[in-house]
Amino acid sequence: MTLTAPKIHAHPLTRLPSMLAIRDLRTYVRRAIQRRSPVATLVNLLRVDPLTVLRCLRWTGAPVNLGPGEPHTLSRLVARLGSTLLQKAFETPVLDVTGTGPLRKLWVHSVATGLAAQTLALVRGRGEDNELAYLQGLLHDLPAWFRYLSLRQSGRTPTPDETEGWVQRWNLPREVLDAMRETVDRDPSHHPGSFLDHPMVWHAERLAELAGFPHPEEDDPKRLEDLRAAATPRDAAWARELHTQVRLLFEDLDLPFEFGEPDVEHWSTAEPGGLFPGQVTGNVTELLLALLQCKEAKTYQGVLTVTTAASLRYLDVDRAFVATYQPSSGALWLRAKADFSSRRMHRVKIQLGPVGRDLMGRAMTESTPQILAEGEGEDDTLLTFLGAAEVLVVPVQNAAALPTYLILDRALSGRSLRMPKDHLAAMVLARTSSMLLENLLLRKRRQRAEKFALTDPLTRLYNRSVGLSSLESELARSRRSADPLSVLMLDMDAFKNLNDTYGHLAGDVALRRTADVLRKTVRRSDVVCRYGGEEFLVVLPAASLEEATVVAARIFTEVNETGRRLGLPLSVSIGLAAARTEPSDSVETLLSRADQALYASKVRGRNRFSANVD
Ligand code: GH3
Ligand code: MG
Ligand code: MG
Repeated sequence: MTLTAPKIHAHPLTRLPSMLAIRDLRTYVRRAIQRRSPVATLVNLLRVDPLTVLRCLRWTGAPVNLGPGEPHTLSRLVARLGSTLLQKAFETPVLDVTGTGPLRKLWVHSVATGLAAQTLALVRGRGEDNELAYLQGLLHDLPAWFRYLSLRQSGRTPTPDETEGWVQRWNLPREVLDAMRETVDRDPSHHPGSFLDHPMVWHAERLAELAGFPHPEEDDPKRLEDLRAAATPRDAAWARELHTQVRLLFEDLDLPFEFGEPDVEHWSTAEPGGLFPGQVTGNVTELLLALLQCKEAKTYQGVLTVTTAASLRYLDVDRAFVATYQPSSGALWLRAKADFSSRRMHRVKIQLGPVGRDLMGRAMTESTPQILAEGEGEDDTLLTFLGAAEVLVVPVQNAAALPTYLILDRALSGRSLRMPKDHLAAMVLARTSSMLLENLLLRKRRQRAEKFALTDPLTRLYNRSVGLSSLESELARSRRSADPLSVLMLDMDAFKNLNDTYGHLAGDVALRRTADVLRKTVRRSDVVCRYGGEEFLVVLPAASLEEATVVAARIFTEVNETGRRLGLPLSVSIGLAAARTEPSDSVETLLSRADQALYASKVRGRNRFSANVD
């Protein structure tokens, strides 16, 4: 690889660092920055500006700067750089760039590929990867960017070595570089006749082409004809939806958008299979396995997301919603959706009429999917909202506070939902996610019960029996390892007095605040418990008596400080003791020594700590 080449020829990005530096786009950007809240605007602007994203990645040194497991997202980039630095990233010299036609084509092609890749990641149920997928799609054509920029600026096409050198000099996340290589490697000419098993970015790019955003070097009617012939009606519907997505993103930023919608009605589309055959499987065994093994199903919203994504993938529908329904009022809330869009759904409430309500009730009581179709009553509020002629309503769960349903449609591709096989698969999916929800509920309940059994509700500290059993095991461990072990016994001073003077509620507050002090003063490996009414026990593994004294002093000062803040006469007396090496020392003898030390603190006037050193 030649590293000298980039030195001779300036790096192309230094001369045209932002797509939005093109004069007529610039005014739009400035207006957008002035009008909206800066950070959100900057993220959105980054979404449509691959060149600025590259510059930002260079500044943050993405591959080294992100912690392990941190997602590569545009909002992270904004957070890392801060809005001032980002403003600077967009502040590029005004360039009077003429003849930017191919550049502009490459631009929308990149944005569309990003959006498509993000959606594919979402649909495949890899929710956490969808932001990275966007970046991969947005930046996948990096070599072409360099080629075009270099040609425009120096009038010559760079050699592949030069391009590779430039790419190497920019700190791109490894995942992004990999996506780029995969896209290059999987050129369709190397894999004639099969769209199967291609990586996501490759699929996303084909989808962008179908949606009317081809790569400028692949803008060829014959090629498009071939792609269309391989696409299913569903692919066609998705391509149209992608077109809308790109338009909305541009409109949102007030950027000009001059691309006509793809004329999907006149495609000669293939059936079945098509561009995304790996996408829809219809395989019930796979569906079950995918749902049951799903890592994201740890939260309620997670189960809903997984359920809708699985509907798209395995039931071959165009859209899937999870809804909860209130039979008494007829209100239906759409809570999660999956469709060909990466836009997030806000919760929507739809008021159902008598026909819809009747149908919801029947679906649940008969435990069978029902079709809600136009013309079967005047109250098609749900259908109007969804813009669908029919939807399949699948009962999921009745045990929850509100009955839950899955609502599926094929409105985009205009296919029927009236296949008994579809209904069966939909029921399998609904029952499985119902089980996941039920499971989640039980797990939450068990966790709560366990927590309740181990902790004291007032202070949320461990209770006495947890404290004693931890002391037991820590003592055994200290014997084995010959590490020291110390305990602190605390008793609040004149607490009866405090209760009598300020009331029991103030007493409770004092207890809780003292517990907070203990919690935040000790190490995570230490154990704090409420030993009795206003008594606490602290177990300090691996701490000598000297070290325990430091902890006691800190607690003692902090409690006084807390009392001052609360305006209450708050103090504690503390007794310290350390475990002895002889085997006759037990939990009981250790605690009794701590207790004696505590008693010594009390008789010497309280508000102090003493150690038992004999
Ligand atoms: P000293 O320890 O300094 O000798 O005096 P004291 O007043 O703290 O002595 P004692 O141990 O006799 O009193 C403890 C008091 O703590 C009695 C009880 O009413 C109060 N107490 C125990 N548990 C709670 C509780 O959960 N909330 C409140 N507000 N008070 C409690
Ligand atoms: Mg007391
Ligand atoms: Mg007491």
